[in-house]
Amino acid sequence: MASRASVSSVAPVDPGRASLTTLGGVGPALAQTLAKLGLREVQDLWFHLPLRYEDRTTVVAIGDLRPGDRAQVEGVVEFVERGFRFRPQLKVIVGDEAGRALLLRFFHFRKAQVDQLQKGTRLLCFGEVRQGPQGLEMVHPQYQRVEGDVPLVVEERLTPVYPTTEGLGPRRLASVIARALAHLPVDDRLELIPDDVGRPLGLASLRDALLYVHRPPPDVDLRQLEQGRHPAQQRLAFEELLTQHLTLRRMRAAVKKRSAPVLKSAGTLRERLLGSLPFALTKAQARVSAEVARDVARAHPMLRLVQGDVGSGKTVVAALAAVAAVESGYQVALMAPTELLAEQHLRNFRAWLEPLGLDVEWLAGKVQGRARKSALARVADGAAHVVVGTHALMQEGVAFARLGLVIVDEQHRFGVHQRLALRDKGAEGDSIPHQLVLTATPIPRTLAMSAYADLDVSSIDELPPGRTPVQTVAISSERRYDVMERIHAACMEGRQVYWVCTLIEESEQLNAQAAEVAHAELTAGLPDLAVGLIHGRMKPKEKQSVMDAFKQGELAVLVATTVIEVGVDVPNASLMVIENSERLGLAQLHQLRGRVGRGSIASTCVLLYQTPLSRLAKERLQVMRQTNDGFRIAEKDLELRGPGEVLGTRQTGQLQFRIADLARDGHLMPEVQRVAEAMMRDHPARCERLIARWVGDAARYVDA
Ligand code: ADP
Ligand code: MG
Repeated sequence: MASRASVSSVAPVDPGRASLTTLGGVGPALAQTLAKLGLREVQDLWFHLPLRYEDRTTVVAIGDLRPGDRAQVEGVVEFVERGFRFRPQLKVIVGDEAGRALLLRFFHFRKAQVDQLQKGTRLLCFGEVRQGPQGLEMVHPQYQRVEGDVPLVVEERLTPVYPTTEGLGPRRLASVIARALAHLPVDDRLELIPDDVGRPLGLASLRDALLYVHRPPPDVDLRQLEQGRHPAQQRLAFEELLTQHLTLRRMRAAVKKRSAPVLKSAGTLRERLLGSLPFALTKAQARVSAEVARDVARAHPMLRLVQGDVGSGKTVVAALAAVAAVESGYQVALMAPTELLAEQHLRNFRAWLEPLGLDVEWLAGKVQGRARKSALARVADGAAHVVVGTHALMQEGVAFARLGLVIVDEQHRFGVHQRLALRDKGAEGDSIPHQLVLTATPIPRTLAMSAYADLDVSSIDELPPGRTPVQTVAISSERRYDVMERIHAACMEGRQVYWVCTLIEESEQLNAQAAEVAHAELTAGLPDLAVGLIHGRMKPKEKQSVMDAFKQGELAVLVATTVIEVGVDVPNASLMVIENSERLGLAQLHQLRGRVGRGSIASTCVLLYQTPLSRLAKERLQVMRQTNDGFRIAEKDLELRGPGEVLGTRQTGQLQFRIADLARDGHLMPEVQRVAEAMMRDHPARCERLIARWVGDAARYVDA
């Protein structure tokens, strides 16, 4: 028996892992409903956090209600009407002591309910107030009957509102959660961040934090709570960020354990490529390129993100990595999210690598028939050294002879699975290719630490010499004729101009039309200038010949849709006009603006906007006028738009936080990183428990 006792003292039963049916009042049916919310164990209820809070601690006089309020009122039923106008409807008018009335409207109701709501019944209602045709009303308020002469009982604390599902009322869910909270342990079965690692940032204990958010005390600061800035919420956000970080680190560790081709060579191709370039690498490029070279010379896969502002010269860093792979006898795949960007890479890579005797193939959706067949054959038998393309690279039927390096540009537009799909085309047993990810949108540091914890990050934090900062002005589109004069003046000095028509909708056709209209307007308004047009509906050959004409200086003005966002490079273009700039996000504006300021001439970007401007649009234009620094712009972007938007598809399944918000809680990241390091080193088992607690089933993507 002694052994039994010692077992139980070493591994006390974890009340958090108990099934929900162990809680009083939870039978199989309720357990099934709860499972729909992903709630299976007692600890799942502890971590089922309120979305927001309702204030039922006071009763508001009907006369004081304003549309949009969520409020509690008390009144006596004065009038009931059961009607049918388009659909069944129950209208109940309640009046309060001051003689003010409020309409309650129900579209779904049972007969028992109607019977209850007799004239003279006293009600306590809670709901959202809105302006109806006959005055203020509440649609489907929650209500309860109160005895006529008993003093009212209101809640003492704020009422948490939980995410719920059909068939599970808010009160029922709240009461199950309250029962689960009674089992919160006081020891390290709950608190998984050990004392020797330190209580993060002096935040509350996990137990206190959970009790606080589920049952905020009466004197709570509601504003702070609603913003998620209370220390209790910060404690939970910390743990969630920590867990997400650990998950990504675990994923990285798993990949790093696999093997990869050792790409180590004499560096002859590298020297020849460097010798053929018309410029020397910047210090930043040389540093990042050396980091990459070191990574790929190891027998384990590289997972490296290279981030650098628009125009910082990421392409050549990628090309240097590519020649290292080729010289070691491996193939390289380069994938870009749009055809135009992929074409731009193709042109660069062909110009740089073909003189060195390398074969560069092209695979995009548009490559069909014989051309596709021949490209596929050369990729499969190893004759192709480098393959450049779009999503088409990941398709079935694309097989590599010896894929050693995968380069993905503009990673945030691809999902993780897409990157993995391409990577797995090079898998051979345990061995997988090295991965190099390029991103043109600088990612705020805090976001990078979180979202890219599965990648090592290198920054090209320096622009090639000779660039002049772009001056940015915002001008109302009512003054477009002044802008035309400016264009004329610039062209008379031998400069070139972009006129960008921005996305009207997600319709290439409408955009093409808008560009055609602008093209006609500029051609008429600037009769002595050659005005060209480029948009996404044109054939690649047509696009190319227009681009070439602009590059050669045969066109003074180029009217374009946002297809020129990425990859276009004409140093003599020193003026850019962006129409309807108020519609674009910061990242896109910054990308576009990066097309000018590439030479030594002072450049200008004119942001044309339509009035009236929204507050947000005003703020964006302001930021653009103030700074050219991609990192500052990215920080601001994160603040204005939130991380999901900034990262595009990448957040799928990864940045769906329950409580953390990277824009608000990013300041926690350095400490998250420190705690993560310590826990991975000293408490690996606790890391697993954290992941089970916060990520649960979703942890499966870790095996990706
Ligand atoms: P991005 O990082 O935006 O992809 P690119 O690789 O397209 O930038 O480079 C932008 C431009 O700068 C290209 O014309 C490229 O040839 C040029 N460039 C790259 N590196 C240097 C350098 N070290 N010195 C001068 N020009 C450079
Ligand atoms: Mg680029």
